[in-house]
Amino acid sequence: MAPPAATSELSSAPTGTNLDVKNLGGLKMTEGSHAKTIELGKDWESFTFAPIRESQVSRAMTRRYFADLDDYAESDIVIVGAGSCGLSTAYMLGKQRPDLKIAIIEAGVAPGGGAWLGGQLFSAMVMRKPADVFLNDLGVPYEDEGDFVVVKHAALFTSTLLSKVLSFPNIKLFNATAVEDLITRPAPTPTDPHAVRIAGVVTNWTLVSMHHDDQSCMDPNTINAPLVISATGHDGPFGAFSVKRLVSMQQMERLGGMRGLDMRTAEDAIVKQTREVVKGLIVGGMEISEVDGANRMGPTFGAMALSGVKAAEEALKVIGERMREDKEGC
Ligand SMILES: Cc1cc2nc3c(=O)[nH]c(=O)nc-3n(C[C@H](O)[C@H](O)[C@H](O)COP(=O)(O)OP(=O)(O)OC[C@H]3O[C@@H](n4cnc5c(N)ncnc54)[C@H](O)[C@@H]3O)c2cc1C
Repeated sequence: MAPPAATSELSSAPTGTNLDVKNLGGLKMTEGSHAKTIELGKDWESFTFAPIRESQVSRAMTRRYFADLDDYAESDIVIVGAGSCGLSTAYMLGKQRPDLKIAIIEAGVAPGGGAWLGGQLFSAMVMRKPADVFLNDLGVPYEDEGDFVVVKHAALFTSTLLSKVLSFPNIKLFNATAVEDLITRPAPTPTDPHAVRIAGVVTNWTLVSMHHDDQSCMDPNTINAPLVISATGHDGPFGAFSVKRLVSMQQMERLGGMRGLDMRTAEDAIVKQTREVVKGLIVGGMEISEVDGANRMGPTFGAMALSGVKAAEEALKVIGERMREDKEGC
């Protein structure tokens, strides 16, 4: 039988008491009326962790990961990219639709995309109003400067958003995993007999994706989903992935390309243009600027948060129909 974890011993203790658990040496946990606090004791000589065998650690991780892979192989929505737009989308969907199974695929080990700093190497994050409503909803504090607000550190926004998204039971983040293709199904229209709808994603460990040129036979994995939301950022080694793939598979003639920096027009355009660009594929954040040729927005993040809100709204408009089509088309 697995040894009890130190935390479960602590949490099973009666409330309102000061605890001094024996095998934790001098580590004390005080439980007050509102919050639990830990006091570091002086008795480090007798301190020891609860016992464990290495295989228990391996099994605790792999059992859960493979169960998730099995479960999310059929998802309702896949979000590609866990930057500020993808995470904002996930937050809105997680809040409104706990019944939907949502997988987030993030190529980096660290989710958050470009939103850990405000711009260049500076800490503060600027959001133009009315994006302050998103911060209010999240509970992220800011200073009000009139037409815009300033969060003291971009990482405060991103870590809060991330922690909320990860706490939804219906959302699973697969990081260090890249989307390297889109699953398609024929969906001919009167004007385009070769049109397709997007029906999921093809994934691989990011490190494997980066080695397709020097290693062969590294087949990918797949996730079926009637709706994919892509927020992979602007063009770069991984960025603008889905829309570039749409061009190469001739579902979009060409990309507009991101234009010069103009915050005043860029942010409005990015939010307004966030939409389903091909049946089954909603595009938001800086990736949409590559589709339509919107301006760069530079270091201001309101558009990313509200593009996420719009992407979630667009998703809720079409999800029922896409699920039906997926079921009928297999
Ligand atoms: C180096 C750098 C350059 C920037 N340049 C600009 C600029 O030119 N213009 C501008 O307006 N702002 C720029 N910014 C500011 C700002 O960071 C971004 O505009 C903002 O982060 C975009 O948010 P997003 O959610 O759309 O994309 P990002 O924050 O870029 O997030 C996209 C996420 O998708 C992931 N991803 C990408 N491809 C895949 C894939 N195939 N599979 C899985 N995951 C994938 C990435 O790893 C990333 O985490 C830049 C930031 C940085 C750090």
